[in-house]
Amino acid sequence: MKPTDPVSTEISVALCEWFARSARDLPWRGPDVAPWAILVSEFMLQQTQVDRVLPRWIAWMERWPTPSALAADEPGEAVRAWDRLGYPRRAIWLHRAAVEIAERHGDTVPANVDELLALSGIGPYTARAVAAFAYGERHPVVDTNTRRVIARLVHGRAAAGMPAPGDLADMEALLPESRDAAAVFNAAAMELGAIVCTARAPRCDACPVARWCEWRGAGYPDNAPEKRPKQAKFAGSDRQVRGRIMALLRRSTEAVEPAAALEAAADGGVRDPDQPRRAYDSLIADGLVVELDGRARLP
Ligand code: SF4
Repeated sequence: MKPTDPVSTEISVALCEWFARSARDLPWRGPDVAPWAILVSEFMLQQTQVDRVLPRWIAWMERWPTPSALAADEPGEAVRAWDRLGYPRRAIWLHRAAVEIAERHGDTVPANVDELLALSGIGPYTARAVAAFAYGERHPVVDTNTRRVIARLVHGRAAAGMPAPGDLADMEALLPESRDAAAVFNAAAMELGAIVCTARAPRCDACPVARWCEWRGAGYPDNAPEKRPKQAKFAGSDRQVRGRIMALLRRSTEAVEPAAALEAAADGGVRDPDQPRRAYDSLIADGLVVELDGRARLP
């Protein structure tokens, strides 16, 4: 398919109309939302559900409405405000990106994908998402939900395989020519995957593109590509033990003895005796914990 193919056009029109009617009312999608606010939402939404992100995003934007406002605070404050969103390295990267935007871009989030990619913590997905959603640039934006929609709708497969370079070309082939329509289409495809074409229970009766769906047309064959290896269980993992140390440091107003951090790490059980020390050292290596005068605190 190409953007100018009649079927691509029909799909994009149907999907964009559905989005206008049915999209969730999320605050970062408003018409006057600043690029900085959109960038923050993209950092937070990585591997994190919308309902968990919402309160943290609102509080974040009230406290740090511009990159320079965040840059003026300690990185540890960003980690503290990140709370339990998970993967707290994102908070450190977001703080670093804020410093870079304030210092190198006059406190304005760049619109150019290459300039966005040069910022800390911004990979190809986030760079394209910010360029498209904050500035209306025409780029294919492909997240997990979009990949699943394309796998079913275009390729007749029950699920997407591992991410591949062809994902962008698939999306590009469907993307409307106009910048504005392309930005809406990117958001609409993601939204469809998030609330209708879900992984476990697609609601095809409510799907605006059902009539073109190859997978549905083929009778829903059980043809999902091989699954990626499952993520290790959270319970008992190093991630969980790291989280206990982070929780202690977030609620401590002063630096703590490393022994106290190791004790907190072990509180609740560990998988092996070295796990607390391993978790503590990895947090230091990631810049999430710093030691000053022999005591540990947020950076
Ligand atoms: Fe997904 Fe069903 Fe729509 Fe196909 S018809 S895109 S499987 S929700």
